[in-house]
Amino acid sequence: MKTAIITGITGQDGSYLAEFLLSKNYKVYGFVRRESFENASESFKNIEKVLDKIELLPVSITDPLHIYKEISKIMPDEFYHLAAQSFVSYHMSDEINIMNINFNSTLYIANTLKELAPQCRIFFAGSSEMFGSPEESPQNETSKFNPKSIYGIAKVSSYYLLKNYRDKDNIYVSTGIMYNHESSRRGNQFVTKKIISTAVKIKYGKASKLELGNLEALRDWGYAPDYVYAMWLILQQDKADDYILATGKLHSVKDFVRTVFEYLELDYKKHVEINPNFYRASEKIPLSGNYKKLESIGWKHTKTFDEVIKEMIDIEIKNRN
Ligand code: NDP
Repeated sequence: MKTAIITGITGQDGSYLAEFLLSKNYKVYGFVRRESFENASESFKNIEKVLDKIELLPVSITDPLHIYKEISKIMPDEFYHLAAQSFVSYHMSDEINIMNINFNSTLYIANTLKELAPQCRIFFAGSSEMFGSPEESPQNETSKFNPKSIYGIAKVSSYYLLKNYRDKDNIYVSTGIMYNHESSRRGNQFVTKKIISTAVKIKYGKASKLELGNLEALRDWGYAPDYVYAMWLILQQDKADDYILATGKLHSVKDFVRTVFEYLELDYKKHVEINPNFYRASEKIPLSGNYKKLESIGWKHTKTFDEVIKEMIDIEIKNRN
């Protein structure tokens, strides 16, 4: 039986990954911050179904000694580092905190594994925000990074740190450069979840308007369980390497809104209002990923854009209070 540790196990991707690894007969551990244990009924919602099958440990990912102690006990075969302050702000604020959570954690974890368990395979959750304002579209694994947020800077810094561990110390570590991916477990602060939960409230008479920013903004939206399968697949390759996880298809926020409202038999024009506070100019060159390299190791999508949205709406309706 293989042993895996997941950071960010309570989040969208971590929870799907835990389920997937259990289905592959892994022993699954999650490093979870202490605050989440204190608020377990809310924080553990995504992992409710598997709580009795996984082992959660209160570990601060910003405390190197704590990480060292727990890894030395578990000695994992695979480590998936997904925990992050994952909401992207384009203002330069909270830099120290974000670098601490999103970069230092990577340093402490990878450094510990290098010392204690150099055979362990590591997956790191990178992001399209590493390309920030890209020079070409679609981007591939060799496109130039140009991050425009502290979040993106932390991901690029982690990527280079890990690449050096791979190249110089022969550590098996791979970064998945992931574009937006969605599911019913997406956090409420993200635009897709906001659109769906508000549209469902409108449908059932609990809200009347949906405030959004730039409807023309383009995104490459995928399906979270497909990306989680890719994380595992990437770690099963003979050689560690970095991969783009994307769909290569662009849709506007307006496309997303229209699809949601049409499925709910509503007219979005009657409900959507533009709030200048949420407005962000469209990128001159959009973030869209070329996933040919991932495809070459046997990965493919299982759901279309419309199918992902419909699943999210159906679950939102089922779970509404
Ligand atoms: P979520 O926001 O759903 O989950 C984030 C996870 O990180 C949660 O488990 C959260 O734990 C944990 N976390 C946040 N802050 C801390 C902290 N200070 N200490 C310990 N744990 C913390 O993210 P996703 O599942 O969507 O994303 C997974 C990874 O993939 C992230 O690294 C994200 O940056 C990256 N990514 C995601 C994309 C997407 O579209 N979903 C796109 C590109 C990259 P808690 O429950 O305690 O808050």
